[in-house]
Amino acid sequence: MDKLTILTDAAKYDAACTSSGAQRGSRRGMIGNTSASVAGCCHTFSGDGRCVTLLKVLMTNCCVYDCKYCVNRCSNDTRRAVFTPEELADLTIQFYRRNYIEGLFLSSGVLVSPDYTTERMIRCLDLLRRRHRFNGYIHAKAIPGTSPELVTRLGLLADRLSVNIELPSERGLAALAPNKTRKAIFRPMGLIKSTLQENREELVKYRHAPRFAPAGQSTQMIIGATPDSDRHILSLTQSLYDRYRLKRVFYSAYVPVVENTLLPSPDTKPPLLREHRLYQADWLLRFYGFRAEELLDEGKVRAIGVSNLNIGRLVDLSMHNRVIPHVSQVEIHPFYQQAAAVQEMKNLGVQPEGWAPFAEGRNDIFRNKVLESIGKKHGKTPAKVILRWDVQRGISVIPKSTNPARIRENYDIWDFELTAEEMKQIGGMDKGKELFFEHDSPEMARMFGNYHIH
Ligand code: SF4
Repeated sequence: MDKLTILTDAAKYDAACTSSGAQRGSRRGMIGNTSASVAGCCHTFSGDGRCVTLLKVLMTNCCVYDCKYCVNRCSNDTRRAVFTPEELADLTIQFYRRNYIEGLFLSSGVLVSPDYTTERMIRCLDLLRRRHRFNGYIHAKAIPGTSPELVTRLGLLADRLSVNIELPSERGLAALAPNKTRKAIFRPMGLIKSTLQENREELVKYRHAPRFAPAGQSTQMIIGATPDSDRHILSLTQSLYDRYRLKRVFYSAYVPVVENTLLPSPDTKPPLLREHRLYQADWLLRFYGFRAEELLDEGKVRAIGVSNLNIGRLVDLSMHNRVIPHVSQVEIHPFYQQAAAVQEMKNLGVQPEGWAPFAEGRNDIFRNKVLESIGKKHGKTPAKVILRWDVQRGISVIPKSTNPARIRENYDIWDFELTAEEMKQIGGMDKGKELFFEHDSPEMARMFGNYHIH
């Protein structure tokens, strides 16, 4: 149990899964605990989107290397433990049988040498696959500096391999991970890429040929331990996807665990928001075909728009930043008109834009008596009256529709004008309260702050 505690805890810094930043410590009389001190399981996703629980563990946290940012480095005074391959294989199977996990995420410190360590990992996976007939998902780390034959053997037992880049630049590696070199990291990546290609061709010829790392390869980078910019990190990411056909690049916000003048001070907060933004940019690269240059070329971003900022925050933002937002998008419709906020936006030179202009049909808006009677005078529907009312107030509107006829109809508001009296009548419909979200409430801010889209 001691070994398990030490070696799952030591594995938690490897973020080949995404973090939510949520912290829910244990409470007396209650069940459930997601505090950062609890290690042991992480998750991956199957091809059909199911979440698969993995035992995330190290073979050992003994390490002959001395990476300055790592709690397991040889010069750190920490409790050490080593699993034998047999112990770890048995443990995995027991956990599987008890339904705690469905797979294994196996990494390791460097015990004696990369080859010696990898041989022990291979032995463990071999026991799992052959002796225990374990057919579940396995993610294994390929340690930089391991011989090509051993990396190949590891890939024939695991579903996914990953070689961690750790630090995004050669300068960072030289300063903080003196035993690692760029070459030693990229060599196994290149080998995995070419073996995957050969394996694909082999499988076309021989259906029952052994499969090599069918879930491909991934890597992890630590964010915030070195001064490398997001520009540099995203350019590197792009080249990794292009050159090594990686399935994923994981970004791990640096958690200070040691005091070292070359590293951020121990009271530095992990840059979780930066990590989150990198995942968003990564998503654009992988799924929307953007290139890193497109995301990063300053000339490409010509204007900034903000959404759902209350007016106080918008004033704050405008006063303390060089660039004032061009557009501010907020909830605006006849039941929530935000007259004072709209005026303030105009004073700042920010274009107001209203979302949900039809209140998404709430309060029976399309049969509202005031709107119907005004519409009747102009021969227009209540929807067109609302759009005209917005435009006359100087508000941009984006009514949502997937129906081409309705989209065309929404343009048909330029041949009439509401009188001052009609504007005043619609002004009387204001209830002064949002219908959808209270963006100023702490709960709502927390909910949106915890949204992760990767
Ligand atoms: S190789 Fe470096 S990062 Fe990996 S366990 Fe050893 S000291 Fe830590």
